[in-house]
Amino acid sequence: MDKKNIAKFSAESLVVAGGHDPMGVLNSLKNPIFQTSTFVFNTAEEGKAFFNKYSSADTLEERNSSLIYTRLNHPNLTAAEFRLAQLDGAEDAAFFESGMAAISTTIMTFCKAGDLILMSSPLYGGTDTFIKRTLNQFDVAYIEFDTNHSLEEIKATILNHPRAKRLKMIYVETPANPTLSLTDIGMIADLREDLRSSDIQAVIAVDNTYLGPIFQKPLAQGADLNLYSATKYIGGHSDVIAGACSGKEDLIQGIKGLRTTLGCMASPFTSWLVTRSLETVSLRMEKQASNAEQLANFLKNHPMVNKVYFLGHLEEGDPQHAIYKKQQNSAGAMMAFEVNGGEKAAFTFLNSLELVKLAVSLGSTETLASHPYTMSSSNMNEEDRIKNNITESLVRISVGIENPNDLISDFDQALNQM
Ligand SMILES: *Cc1c(COP(=O)(O)O)cnc(C)c1O
Repeated sequence: MDKKNIAKFSAESLVVAGGHDPMGVLNSLKNPIFQTSTFVFNTAEEGKAFFNKYSSADTLEERNSSLIYTRLNHPNLTAAEFRLAQLDGAEDAAFFESGMAAISTTIMTFCKAGDLILMSSPLYGGTDTFIKRTLNQFDVAYIEFDTNHSLEEIKATILNHPRAKRLKMIYVETPANPTLSLTDIGMIADLREDLRSSDIQAVIAVDNTYLGPIFQKPLAQGADLNLYSATKYIGGHSDVIAGACSGKEDLIQGIKGLRTTLGCMASPFTSWLVTRSLETVSLRMEKQASNAEQLANFLKNHPMVNKVYFLGHLEEGDPQHAIYKKQQNSAGAMMAFEVNGGEKAAFTFLNSLELVKLAVSLGSTETLASHPYTMSSSNMNEEDRIKNNITESLVRISVGIENPNDLISDFDQALNQM
C-alpha cells in the first residue's frame, strides 16, 4: 500500500480504498474473511520477533506481517481499525464484538479499585448498569451530572468527593438517549484542564453512537476517546453487533492490551461486515438525516403529536442550541415524540405502523420505532425516567433511508388510528 502512497488522499477516499492491500491476497479487490484462529511463523526466530513487537503500534503493513493469533490481531480487524481511525481523525482505533464490550473494556482500562468516574446522565441503559452495578462491585465509585449543571457546579461536586484525587475518567454520552439532551464536550475538556491544577488526571471518553463517525468529532472537541456501538450507524444494516473506540495511540494500546486479555475483539466476520459498512456510512447518514428532518417537520404540526424531540428544532437562545451549533454538523436521524395520550395511545400508534418496524436498536437502513418507557429505559427507576422526560407517551424513532413520503404517510395513518 505504501508503494502507491494513498495516504495523501482524504479520509472520505481512504475509507473506501484503505485498510487493504490486494497484492497481499491474490489480487482480491475486497479483503477476504480470514477465517482462521492462528497464523504460521516461518521460523521460531520470526515468532519470537512478532511477540516482541506485538504491543507496539505499527503501520498497516507491519501489523499484517506480524500476525500471531486471532484474539490478538487479524487482517480483518486491522482493516476495520484503519478505516475508522481515518474517519475519526484518530491515531488508532480498536474494534470489539459489541458496543458494550468496547465501553466496558475502555472504562476498565482506566478505572481501578478505589477510583472515581464522573458520568453524564442519562446514559445508555447498558452503560448505566455497568457503571452503577458492575463497577461498584470492583470498588469504582461514580458521580453524575446532567445538562442543567454548570462547569463550576460539576467541579465542586468532584472536589467535595472523598475520592476526588482518584477521578480517572469523565464519561459523556451526547446526544443522550432517548430525548437527545446535549453535553458540551469543550466544557468538559476545560473542566479536565481545570482539574489538572488540583493534581487530578482524568481521561475523557465520549459515546458518539448517535452522531458518529460523520456528524460529530469528539476528538477534535478535546475528548481523548471516541466510543461507538458499531451495531448502529457504523454497521448500519441491523445485521451485526459490534463496538469500537478510537483516539490517541498510547491510550488505544492500553485498551487493546485489556481487550486481548478479556478476549472481546471483533471476530473476522464482524470486522469484515463493519469494514464493508464504513464505505457507505456517510451516504447513509446524510440520507437518514435528510429523511429525519422532513419527518420531524411533519410530526411537529400533527394534531396527535404533543411534543417532538429533534435537534434540528432547537431554537436560538436555548443553551442546547449553542452546543448543537458548536459541536455537531447535523441534527442526525434520531428523534422522539410524545403522542397525544398515554401508553395505550402510544401502543395503538406503534401497532398500526405498516412500513416502519417496531424494534429497539437504531442507525440502520430501515426506520425503527420503539417505546422507551417500557422497553430500552424500563430498567431505570420511575423517578429517573420522569426526570429525563421518558414518559408513557414517548415514542422513539430511528429514521432510515426509505422514501421520505412513504414514511410520512405511514406515520400519518398510524397517528390517525389513535
Ligand atoms: C446500542 C448502544 C450501546 C451498546 O452497544 P451494543 O452494540 O448493543 O453492545 C451503547 N451506547 C449507545 C448510545 C447505544 O445506542
